[in-house]
Amino acid sequence: SFDDAQIDSSDSGQAGGAESFRPAVQAVGVQKSFGSLQVLKGVDMTVMPGTVTVILGPSGSGKSTFLRLINQLETISAGTITIDGELIGFRPVTKHGEQCLQALNEKEIARQRERLGMVFQRFNLFPHKTALENVMEAPVHVAKESRSKAREEAIAELTRVGLAERLDYYPSQLSGGQQQRVAIARALAMHPEIMLFDEPTSALDPELVGEVLGVMRSLADGGMTMIVVTHEVGFAREVGDQIVFMDGGVVVEKGGPEIFDNPKEPRFKDFLNHVL
Ligand code: ADP
Ligand code: MG
Repeated sequence: SFDDAQIDSSDSGQAGGAESFRPAVQAVGVQKSFGSLQVLKGVDMTVMPGTVTVILGPSGSGKSTFLRLINQLETISAGTITIDGELIGFRPVTKHGEQCLQALNEKEIARQRERLGMVFQRFNLFPHKTALENVMEAPVHVAKESRSKAREEAIAELTRVGLAERLDYYPSQLSGGQQQRVAIARALAMHPEIMLFDEPTSALDPELVGEVLGVMRSLADGGMTMIVVTHEVGFAREVGDQIVFMDGGVVVEKGGPEIFDNPKEPRFKDFLNHVL
């Protein structure tokens, strides 16, 4: 009945239901300039928990810069980004009766960054460390976990990405696809809430792309919140909950995967004609 529905909705609001409706990442009016070059011109994006957002767009459109702002590898020029409701990089304070933003210190920023895992086009593994040692590195040296616990978890993460048989291999003994899977395991070992991928398969030989996309797909199926910059339209269509097309520092078109069947903006249509 109507009354039941009302009670249900207020209950869920109090009993944690509201949390699942709070965005994992929310960008509002995000701008970024490098000197006089304005790279992002007011990007809005909402990423809900447990969903996959795929960002598409031509080279130079600001996709990497946007991910780097989320991960605080760059500082924002204007606008705000919140992660699970928490403003990143700043703390709202009242000074002389006026609301303003105070920059966080390095330690506070490092704490916020721990909520995110990032995987780049280039794997950046330590060449003189084995797969296992690469994955254990941050848990031991950053998170100060015991070696035995870090080792156990690293084995679990490497197993999850299909590399249980390669624990003691060095990066040079692994294919590009295997190295990228180690990089994913390394990010997962820090227990991120959100995974950011910046063209994770762009540097791979075509025959190795599938194994990395497969790992990403299983992560998504497991409920990981993900933002993925990629040119892999097949992956975007099948795994993406939200598709965002950027060009020239703005979001030109966004929607569910159905936008591939019915693109509206000419720039998005052109882009699809080129990548498909
Ligand atoms: P995308 O990832 O979509 O290819 P990027 O975010 O890497 O685009 O770059 C967008 C624009 O910003 C490009 O013109 C690039 O040259 C410029 N840019 C990116 N990083 C810097 C930087 N650190 N200093 C100056 N310009 C930069
Ligand atoms: Mg890029």
